[in-house]
Amino acid sequence: LVSRKVKSEDTVLDIDGVRIGGDAPPIIVAGPCSIESEEQMEQTAAFLAAKGVKILRGGAYKPRTSPYGFQGMGVDGLILGSRVAKEHGMLFVTEVMDTRDVEIVAEHADILQVGARNMHNFALLREVGRSRRPVLLKRGLSATIEEWLYAAEYILSEGNNEVILCERGIRTYEKWTRNTLDLSAVALAKQETHLPVIVDVTHAAGRRDLLIPLAKAALAVGADGIHVEVHPSPATALSDNEQQLDFAGYDKFSESLSSLLRQP
Ligand code: PEP
Ligand code: MN
Repeated sequence: LVSRKVKSEDTVLDIDGVRIGGDAPPIIVAGPCSIESEEQMEQTAAFLAAKGVKILRGGAYKPRTSPYGFQGMGVDGLILGSRVAKEHGMLFVTEVMDTRDVEIVAEHADILQVGARNMHNFALLREVGRSRRPVLLKRGLSATIEEWLYAAEYILSEGNNEVILCERGIRTYEKWTRNTLDLSAVALAKQETHLPVIVDVTHAAGRRDLLIPLAKAALAVGADGIHVEVHPSPATALSDNEQQLDFAGYDKFSESLSSLLRQP
């Protein structure tokens, strides 16, 4: 179902007027790694909305490496994220990690994110496939392109055709980046499927100084959007404080990409 052999024309999502894929201009998905407080979300949404960003991200359920790391605000985070996004005319995307949470997350989020660590969670893929919300599907940490596309197939096979693929870097032997951004996967996914494909430069690089060149490269190979973490005060963030952009950093980032983004 995800194959271009089945459907040759690009799938273009229209989520409350925000178009993603095909001939739509590339979109930006931005916001903090984790939803931490009302002030943090309010400042971030106000800043990003003023810059024309239409999709606000923020994790309420966080897949942390350590069980002792900040696990997210849960339902309170969902309520906060969706309210702040709405107040600023933005869509809200957030991760769902558990089949038992799909219903509540779908109630508050405009787009459900399946994270890299859950790309192989077939029960979760089926459950989001039964939901009425579009799904942003991250590529797994060590997933092949074929496995990633089969994960999308799980969602479509349950009747949900609104899937956005997201390349976020894969595990390799390289240590100077957190992951290795696989641009071939972006070009191949665009070629082999009709689905929109976006690139998460933040989790791919794991360091701020590479975000601009990686985003330029992603757009050059045909990505339909860029996913980037932005936080009012990255140094004090409760997760991913090495890689989130502050507001001045986001300004520089979006200015560097402006000719490639052609934001309406
Ligand atoms: C995220 O986007 O919040 C996240 C945890 O990313 P990934 O699943 O790609 O690691
Ligand atoms: Mn993060």
